Amino acid sequence: MIHITLGDMKSVEPEDDFLGRSVIGWSPGMTDDQLYEAGRGCWVLGARADREHYALISAHGIVRQAIRIEGIAPAGPARRAIEGTVLRAGEDPVYDAFVGKPSPVEGARNPITYFDSPHGARTCACGCDARVALGHFLPGHDQIALHKRVALIGTVYEFINWFDETHGGLVYVTASGDKWHLKEDCPGIKAGQRTAGIDHKVEETSRARAAARGKSPCGNCATGP
Ligand SMILES: [Zn+2]
Ligand SMILES: [Zn+2]
Repeated sequence: MIHITLGDMKSVEPEDDFLGRSVIGWSPGMTDDQLYEAGRGCWVLGARADREHYALISAHGIVRQAIRIEGIAPAGPARRAIEGTVLRAGEDPVYDAFVGKPSPVEGARNPITYFDSPHGARTCACGCDARVALGHFLPGHDQIALHKRVALIGTVYEFINWFDETHGGLVYVTASGDKWHLKEDCPGIKAGQRTAGIDHKVEETSRARAAARGKSPCGNCATGP
């Protein structure tokens, strides 16, 4: 799990804050939504964060909130913010195990720490009953799940043809660019790689997914869908 230690509430200028907040940190009497907004960013979150299922927010040595992580979004230079669902009493064992109790991480100097907990495990996404603490699969079970699905279509060659027919083949996008590209090094893609002080990676995706994200074909390297 990700453990976030908040300091006391302080004011910030909304125009200086990547999430547009006027306060960050914790104070007594905050609502769940206020605490979520004050605590979910903007943090330096390493690769491990992408494999975690839950985040806890603590202040003054007590866990104040538990979040089921749905994604982690860029939030300023080298910083990211957690996106997820705030857990309520009785709906998830992680809430019941931690919220309102002493923080499981004490004396950490960094506001972001990671710790292992059996409460944070999920059932393996391959469909077996194993519990997985990080990521979606037990080691190797992602390959098993993938190859079962390939076999439902046929050979790997048949699977790739089916995928490209169904999803329009692979294209390149960035988080901020409004086009999809057939060429990873298209000059047009570079415009979307750096905006608002954030470096966006070039991502490989399908035409269908690029279109669902509101991206249209690049006039330079791509013709119509
Ligand atoms: Zn499995
Ligand atoms: Zn292009």
